[in-house]
Amino acid sequence: MPIDPRELSKMAGDPWLKNIPPSCPNCGYILVGAQSSICAECGQQFQHRNVEKFATDLQMEIRRFRDMNEMVDWSLKLVIAGGVILALGVLRSSNTPSLGEVARSVAIVIGFVAMALGLNVLRVNRLPYWAREHLPENPKLILGQITGVLGLALIAAGVLIP
Ligand SMILES: [Zn+2]
Repeated sequence: MPIDPRELSKMAGDPWLKNIPPSCPNCGYILVGAQSSICAECGQQFQHRNVEKFATDLQMEIRRFRDMNEMVDWSLKLVIAGGVILALGVLRSSNTPSLGEVARSVAIVIGFVAMALGLNVLRVNRLPYWAREHLPENPKLILGQITGVLGLALIAAGVLIP
């Protein structure tokens, strides 16, 4: 019998595959147990069909953030590695100038990647506030911004250090 790997991770309790409860398409209020077709929170009338589609769409949207924190962690590792490479290159450049130039270029490239990976987590801000509560993990927003800035600093250091 073929097994869908997504079903497997669902059985293992992958929080990213958890279904989003039926919510009001207007305000996100959870409609489980609603007695009428009017949202108790915002008063908007809703249709069952729309609520179902809304929950499915939101679930897809939420899943797109699955790697957000992993990217921030990678960004942190990269800025550290980039900083070490640049420092070593600059320190050794009095003996071997070519090594300094290579280290500088590598650090600049790493800086760009680290910046992109770190700031990527800010995409979460596009989600309405209530929708963020459905994210299985808290986005590492502050760390992402710090590593993003450090990535930029790495680029600047690579360009500016004489
Ligand atoms: Zn509502």
